[in-house]
Amino acid sequence: MADTVSFSLFGAGVSPGVAIGYAHLISSARLEVVHYEIEADKIDAEIARFDQAVARVQTELGLIASSASALAEMAAFVNLHRMILSDSQLSAAPRDIIRARRCNAEWALVEQTEHLVGQFEAMDDLYMRERKADVQQVAERVVKALTGSARARLGPSHEENVIVVAHDLSPADMILFKQHQFAGFVTDVGGVTSHTAIVARSLNLPAIVGLQHARQMIRENELLVIDGSDGILIVNPDRQVLAEYQLKQNEFQLERQKLKRIRTTPATTIDGSAIDLYANIELPADMDDVLESGATGIGLFRSEFLFLNRNDLPNEEEQFEAYREVAESMQGQPVVVRTLDLGADKTVNGAERSGPNPSLGLRAIRFCLAEPQMFLTQLRAILRASHFGDIRLLLPMVAHAHEIDHALVMVKQAKQMLDLQGLPYNPDILVGAMVEVPAAALAVNMFIKRLDFLSIGTNDLIQYTLAIDRTDNSVAHLYDPLHPAVLTLVANTIRAGARAGVPVSVCGEMAGDVRLTRLLLGLGLRQFSVHPAQLLEIKQQVLRTDLAEAKRGAARLMRAHDPERILQLLDRLNG
Ligand code: PEP
Ligand code: MG
Repeated sequence: MADTVSFSLFGAGVSPGVAIGYAHLISSARLEVVHYEIEADKIDAEIARFDQAVARVQTELGLIASSASALAEMAAFVNLHRMILSDSQLSAAPRDIIRARRCNAEWALVEQTEHLVGQFEAMDDLYMRERKADVQQVAERVVKALTGSARARLGPSHEENVIVVAHDLSPADMILFKQHQFAGFVTDVGGVTSHTAIVARSLNLPAIVGLQHARQMIRENELLVIDGSDGILIVNPDRQVLAEYQLKQNEFQLERQKLKRIRTTPATTIDGSAIDLYANIELPADMDDVLESGATGIGLFRSEFLFLNRNDLPNEEEQFEAYREVAESMQGQPVVVRTLDLGADKTVNGAERSGPNPSLGLRAIRFCLAEPQMFLTQLRAILRASHFGDIRLLLPMVAHAHEIDHALVMVKQAKQMLDLQGLPYNPDILVGAMVEVPAAALAVNMFIKRLDFLSIGTNDLIQYTLAIDRTDNSVAHLYDPLHPAVLTLVANTIRAGARAGVPVSVCGEMAGDVRLTRLLLGLGLRQFSVHPAQLLEIKQQVLRTDLAEAKRGAARLMRAHDPERILQLLDRLNG
């Protein structure tokens, strides 16, 4: 360790915990391909070499897709990669380049990939722009097939000491992680909402994305420490730092173990008030984690994930089965299904409607009302599933009274259609809306009058209140849940709901941030919906909170205007 340089890199921690291990660099298609000339009589052989590599990767992806069937979200990613590889732009065009320029197959493939990436970058639609990463990942696989995999060098006995360092990681690579025991991974690119980050969280491995140049700065086998909670990567830590992180790692693991003990403990505050702790899910495949977390309901089922990474739309039957599966596994506990929140960063191929500013465009309820057939299909599927459990309907991104009225008319219409067919559903299904646009929080009484419950989507509420695109890394530092404007809107909504007897929950990331639990309780929140992995930590904080004290602390904090003072008061509240 003496002759090595120690340094730290900072990125976005996407999965908490500490990992300590040796760097294993995974190569990047774009950076590491050599160029050489092919003699005229060897061109056909070079093309055949390329074709063989493509065929090998197709087989490999097919195997991964079948082994990933239990993880529907991941299987969808892999199938997308299979489609990309089948496209002649990637599987055939490089042949012409090899012939025309007499270059090696790797070089031709990377040339063509760069060309395609340029085309994707020029697209208006964010979802399509992001697909450039998928094209690069597929190309990287083919390059690996051409040059031989570096990964083969890793013996399984070493894996638990290995930290994977990559420019980018594909979801397909992440599935392979399931079969390995790597300590963690870090990447140069990707935001916290990237596919890789989503899958990383579900794997529960300490991970950091967006480190920018980590792959260039780190050498194979260098000692690394990942602090996935704070997004810090330490390269060649000195003895003291290493010892500190070993301690931190032990504490983290011990804490996780200890938390499991409160899995079935009712979530009540010191003074005996019951708090609902619900889970957020994207797909039915997340239910195992939910049941393990001890959640007493699903507070947010982001149904649009059933629609992503595919070319067609899921039909009524497919949707019905997905909602019913979740309702049945919750055995009568509430399941809040949010109707499609498409638009902005989530769009489907069959119904592209992006517009010049997707976050402010035809998103969520606006999109649904503009696509009545699609919306009715979903409403019918949700209603039919309501016969099998306590399913509730949640409308996203509502800003106007007429949007709610219109949606309620469509719910009624869907019910009438089911009546005509004699299909059962819960006629008293509860209907609520997300408060995630400042207008909704300010005019909350207009909502309360029309709905059975509200759910505050703080992710978008912060985005729209502070005018920052939540997917744009360059303004990520301005994303502040403690901004007085945000807190005022949250407090206003909770207060109005309590006054009218309409339940209010928070289902955005603020609900899963343990630093904010007491503050939210003090503001009167009684329902939290969080990622299953965060639930027990939140429960622990609930168990340690005295509501009267939290209320006093929250009131004091709400009177402060200065950011530093707000932080001080938050520390005091949590102290
Ligand atoms: C939110 O906006 O806070 C929310 C929960 O919804 P999503 O993150 O899916 O937009
Ligand atoms: Mg939202």
